[in-house]
Amino acid sequence: FAKETGRNKYQFYSAKFVEAANRRLLLEQGLRKALEEKRLKVFYQPKFDLHLNQITGLEALLRWNDPVLGNVSPDEFIPVAEETGLIIPIGKWVLEEASRQVLEWQKMGYSDLHVCVNISSIQFLQNDFTKMIEQIIRENSLQPQSLNLEITERIALYNIEDTIQKLQHLQQFGVTISLDDFGTGYSSLSYIKSLPINFLKIDRSFIKDIFFNHQDAAIIRSIISLAQSLDFKVVAEGVETDDQLRVLGEMGCNEIQGYYIAKPMASEDFSKFLEHNLVKHYSYQ
Ligand code: C2E
Ligand code: MG
Ligand code: MG
Ligand code: MG
Repeated sequence: FAKETGRNKYQFYSAKFVEAANRRLLLEQGLRKALEEKRLKVFYQPKFDLHLNQITGLEALLRWNDPVLGNVSPDEFIPVAEETGLIIPIGKWVLEEASRQVLEWQKMGYSDLHVCVNISSIQFLQNDFTKMIEQIIRENSLQPQSLNLEITERIALYNIEDTIQKLQHLQQFGVTISLDDFGTGYSSLSYIKSLPINFLKIDRSFIKDIFFNHQDAAIIRSIISLAQSLDFKVVAEGVETDDQLRVLGEMGCNEIQGYYIAKPMASEDFSKFLEHNLVKHYSYQ
């Protein structure tokens, strides 16, 4: 009996493994094709400044709708793009697309908008990364301050000297930097004082229960005061309710992003959204 169960178990696991490997292969082939056939899309989610009472920026978020696989989440396909190296051409395309798009909105009159683009570690670690960014900015005649690069703690700490050098170079050029998903990676706060960044984005897992959970609220309060003393702005991710917005506003959080303001949208929808929602007054004082 034992032997029998063992064999069944083995077959069960190997079937799972084959299934996962198949899915992985489908994703890789599909992604390659989507890139070639220009079927990837960039959606945009606004970032709202609680002191200026208006939308100051937007985050570019990749979307992939595959004819066979349907909608695939970036959380699933970005790792595949990274493992296969496809993230290099895909990431460059997102940067170009986002630059072109923000320029279009600026020309429509939203002249102060900036766009935030997520940068993968594979991209950031390329030797010519900063050159590539400068080139995209020059070729699109974009003001450097219209582009914000979102990097995670993991990337930043991989080789901290190299990171600092690259970030300083980019900031001197005029590009701004956000530290994304803050709080989920490394717990040590001491290193961030040495990082040249402009925005700190608190991960949405801390925001979720902020209204009920005193510990999460205390963590956020201390992140905000740390950011104030280091002179960078705090962005809260994943704000879904007015209670969360109010608590964050009272704490002095600078910007919020989340479904409460708007979900990520296609560029056409974002243009319409801007017409009616650029300025808004939320009461939290
Ligand atoms: P991220 O950079 O932390 O992006 C925020 C994610 O939270 C997005 O998920 C967004 O749709 C979602 N979100 C925003 N507001 C809310 C909210 O109120 N509630 C909830 N539940 N979720 C909210 P998305 O678009 O699925 O992207 C997931 C991750 O994939 C991103 O996390 C980012 O790490 C990565 N990603 C997306 N686009 C790109 C890209 O162009 N390049 C790279 N390298 N990574 C990307
Ligand atoms: Mg991000
Ligand atoms: Mg994030
Ligand atoms: Mg994330």
